[in-house]
Amino acid sequence: MKSTEWLNDARFTSWRLDISDLGWPDPTLAEKWRRRAETFQKEGANAVVLCGFQFRWDYLVILDRVLGILHEITEICHEHQLKVVEYHSPTLLHTIRSEEDRRTIHNGRQEQVPFYPDDWRKLSFQEKRLANWRQVSARNGKPVFYEPFTCECFCPNHPEFQKAYRAFIRHHLAEIPVDAILSADLHFLPDIYSCACTYCQKRFLSEYGFELPPTEDPEFWENRENPAFLAWIAARYRWNAEHYQRLRKWLPPEVLLWGRASCCLSAELPQTGFSPQLCAEHFDAIFYEIDPRHHPTNHSEEIASEITAFSSIARHFRKPLIALCHVHSSEDLPGWLDFLKPYDARPWISRQTLHEDAVPEESLLETGFDYPETPPGKPTFEPVQAIFFSETFRDSLEIEQGKDYVAQCRELCADLVARGIRPFLLFDTMWDSAAPALWECLWMLDPRALDKEKERKIAEWQQQGLAIGLS
Ligand SMILES: [Zn+2]
Repeated sequence: MKSTEWLNDARFTSWRLDISDLGWPDPTLAEKWRRRAETFQKEGANAVVLCGFQFRWDYLVILDRVLGILHEITEICHEHQLKVVEYHSPTLLHTIRSEEDRRTIHNGRQEQVPFYPDDWRKLSFQEKRLANWRQVSARNGKPVFYEPFTCECFCPNHPEFQKAYRAFIRHHLAEIPVDAILSADLHFLPDIYSCACTYCQKRFLSEYGFELPPTEDPEFWENRENPAFLAWIAARYRWNAEHYQRLRKWLPPEVLLWGRASCCLSAELPQTGFSPQLCAEHFDAIFYEIDPRHHPTNHSEEIASEITAFSSIARHFRKPLIALCHVHSSEDLPGWLDFLKPYDARPWISRQTLHEDAVPEESLLETGFDYPETPPGKPTFEPVQAIFFSETFRDSLEIEQGKDYVAQCRELCADLVARGIRPFLLFDTMWDSAAPALWECLWMLDPRALDKEKERKIAEWQQQGLAIGLS
């Protein structure tokens, strides 16, 4: 079997770890895990995502214990024909500045086993100090702090971090026989002024020939009319995507890889420097995490446009699409599965993580997890209409104008989807291999997004009979 073929029939659910699991090797835990695996297997799941030890460096001082836990769970899952996805963040670490931070972590991040060092800045890995790898803000030259997650963040360009993460991953693979890795949270935080560490500054200078200026320089910073600033935005996307390029090379072919993203259209993306479409070539599957606040019956424009975008990326790269749904109750489950089917998205069913008393996955799936297999090689859908969405154009606009451009795209997507049409979103990087023969119409959101080469192609396609729509 080709290593990715199991994805064609994958039905994922979350395997939640909690603080009691740190009691391993207590034999009653193995009994609990075995019962859970039996339940998932009986209910129809055939893959689990290990959730709970997300900020993996938080657990460095008990890493062997964590890997021992994950090893035993993985073995139990395999005995029950459940594939196992290892899920972690390579870059984020909880950081405690005060007692208030402890309360914030306790109250706000129920998705993780609440364990973190009191002060990880003293920690080393392979005799290298973790603190040296932190992202630095151009505003003050100091390590950044990301308030929403109460964390600090490593820089993917730091050579010591890259070397350490490679060893870290090798150690994981040696200890846990996982089937896939979900490597999440490749972001520059908290804003466009990060990361200005020595290595990022050197790279920008060598790649673009331009020295990052002081933040007092209004000609550069936040000036979307300056090509050098736009090059800075583009470089950050590329640097985060390179994380996946490196990781894919390090992993054996049978261990699959994907990253985590909840949007690929938002005008906020240049802030964090993450663009799923630029990482996609390094992934074995395209993963769309539907925001837990959203549901197919509300936020229809956002969901309709994002699933259109992610399924278009999956179609373009000929890779399976996985969609994470946060489900309230077992009665809610069929509606979610029906929503995903037209996109051939493989379902990942999770509890509703926004609720403290959420219905657990075992109960969500108790009425069964029936979902059709995707025929091998089948593209996610056959588009008859396409919409040109340009990320580089979006990023060249002032933020409010960029938001309007995105809103225009979301509205058009939702309108077409409501009329039973599933459009294809044509991103900048897809023009070379675009297949306009399939389309009756290509929608233009804003003609300013076309450069000379794209104008030439449009004229050629029009001569071949393609209609151009203006929204
Ligand atoms: Zn850096």
